[in-house]
This record gives sequence, C-alpha cells and structure tokens, in this order.
Amino acid sequence: MKKFYNFAVGPVTIDEDILKIGAEQIPYFRTEEFSCLIKENEQLVLKALNAPKNSRVVFITGSGTASMEAAVVNIFNFNDKVLVVKGGSFGARFSQLCDIYNISHTDINLEMGHQITEQDLQPFENKGYTGFLVNINETSTGVLYNHKLITDFCKRNKLKLVVDAISSFLADKFNMEEMNACAVIAGSQKAMALHPGLSFIALNEQGIEIVKENKKNGFIKTLYFDLENALLNGERGQTPFTPAVSILIQLNKQFNKLNKEGFDKIIERTNNIATDFRNRIKNFPFKITSQSLSNAVTPLSPLDKNVSAHKIFEILKDEYNIFVCPNGGEYKNILFRVGHIGSLTIKDNDVLFEALNDLLKRKII
Ligand SMILES: *Cc1c(COP(=O)(O)O)cnc(C)c1O
Repeated sequence: MKKFYNFAVGPVTIDEDILKIGAEQIPYFRTEEFSCLIKENEQLVLKALNAPKNSRVVFITGSGTASMEAAVVNIFNFNDKVLVVKGGSFGARFSQLCDIYNISHTDINLEMGHQITEQDLQPFENKGYTGFLVNINETSTGVLYNHKLITDFCKRNKLKLVVDAISSFLADKFNMEEMNACAVIAGSQKAMALHPGLSFIALNEQGIEIVKENKKNGFIKTLYFDLENALLNGERGQTPFTPAVSILIQLNKQFNKLNKEGFDKIIERTNNIATDFRNRIKNFPFKITSQSLSNAVTPLSPLDKNVSAHKIFEILKDEYNIFVCPNGGEYKNILFRVGHIGSLTIKDNDVLFEALNDLLKRKII
C-alpha cells in the first residue's frame, strides 16, 4: 500500500526493487567492478539520448541544476554571446547562470504556455551569437519546445547548442545526434525515477573539444564542475570525487530494466498515461495552458478565477494523500501541474480522478 500518490514532476514514485537497493550497504567504489558499472551507465545514457558516436557522459553528484551550472561554465566563456529561451523558471535559471558567470546573453522571453516560433528567433539570425541555451521541456509551464526549429536555427547560425532535457529525458522522443547538441543534461529524479542527487551531461565530439579548449585557456574556474577533469577520470570509469554511489547502482539496475523493455516502449507508456489523463480532465473545470505538451506533465489552470490552484494542491495533499505539483511566484494561484512520470499506471489516474470528482461534489473546484 502506498502512503501517498505522487503526481509531482520529480522526485517521483520509485519502483520497489530499486528502492530496496537504497537500503543496502555501499561498496567501495575505486574498483574494477564499479568502473564497469559507470562505463555501462555511460553507454545506456548515450543510447537513450540517441547520441552520436564518440560522445561521452559525465556524472555529477548534484541535482539537475548542478549540471546546468557545469554545462554553462564549461561550454561558454566571456567571449560568447548566448541566446536563452526563457519561457518559465528553468529558462530564468539559465539566464541567471549566465549573469553569475558574466556570459553575455539575450533572453528570448515567451509568454506562459507558448511554443517558440520562427518569429521569436528571426530577430537573432546572423547577429553574431555563438550559443543557445534551452530547457527542451520548460517544466514550470509544461511546454515542450520545437526540436526541429531550434536545431535548424542553431545549425544555420553555427551556435553551440546546450539542451537541458532533464524533464523530457525518457518521457519524450529525443535525438541528440539529429539536434546536433554539444551538451545534453538529464538527471535522476524525473522519468529515470530514482532518488534526487545525481545528474549527468552528455557531450558530443564538439562539446568535448570545447571543454578541452576552455580548460587549456584557463576559462574553467571551478573545481567540482571541471568537466575536463571529469572526462579524464571517466575514461577509466571513475569520477574525480566520491559519486552518489547508491544512486549510480540504482541507475544501473533501473536503466537495464528500461533498456530491456525498450526506451521507445517506456516513452509510449508515459504517453498513454498522459493521454488518458488529458482525455478525462476535459470533463473538469480546468484549462490546459500549454500549446505544446510533453508526455511528462500537464499544466492546468482553474477556469473559475475564484478557485486557487495552490489551494487545490494543498487540499489534495492534506485530505487525499495526493501530490500534484504547485507553481510558485506569479502563477501560484492560477497554475498547478500533474506529472505522468515515475512508477505510475492508469489505475493511479483513477485515484486522482476520484479525488477530483469529490472536489467537484464539495464545490471546491
Ligand atoms: C527538474 C528540472 C531541473 C533540475 O532541478 P533541480 O531542482 O536542480 O533538480 C532542471 N531543469 C528542468 C527543466 C527540470 O525539470
């Protein structure tokens, strides 16, 4: 019996067999065996991302934001001029990182829930930009951006493309090779369905070269996030510092399970759960606010302006043991999100809709 039902967009519900690994003793990790496990994890990440050959993966102990920071610091320097897609709080985080590290940047501000368009990019054609930062699924507003539009723009303008795919990884189709991304970021606590605390960055040949060049030129002013050092250690299946050993072991088990089922099947399963939810939510007084939905999450706004989205989150949590994902800041009262990732089934949707029906009866929504 679950204590609660979790429709947050991370951390998510973890499979029982994976949870159990977390209760086991931790093996010493500077060993042949653990190096093999890390090497296998690297190959599985590359396969799941459809990465081009000769790509590499570095594992960072830290949540997704740590890898966002590491990617920004290692790929860009003060000679760069970067475009940042800012459609929500994760886009704002990339923008903030550029500010902190003095990387010249322009934010492409998108309205809440809006897809990026040709018109949004057009003003920046041939304007001397060198890089592009995007959260391919802007989780805070649940917008999955147009892969092809971004890819074509970056190829045309020869931009170094860095993709935060944290909430899209294993939830939506993704092809790192087609996107020609030099760095792609993913993490443990979204569709991977593991504990938070581990994130990873895949680098293609160009990305690896850029990191090496920036290191040689003394641009990488960080110890923990020095990706050149991480790549070097990774060659022998190790990390420079103590990694999240248990999560890497859980990752290995989880990844091998998912790989056996097939990554496309996993994505299809998530799509089925999301589609089921979206069909049934039509009968409730909510509006889906995104123009382009990821399989990972559905953003909802109450139709009745007097109904607070945050209140719904609190009532579901306190009275029904159900977590949905609240929004913060200016969207606190108008937006909440329902996640479809992690160890969920359509039966779990039934439980959520039972609760929503009850809220209707109680005239709360
Ligand atoms: C979850 C998420 C992150 C990581 O956030 P953390 O709080 O550091 O785990 C980064 N980007 C996106 C798009 C996310 O959904």
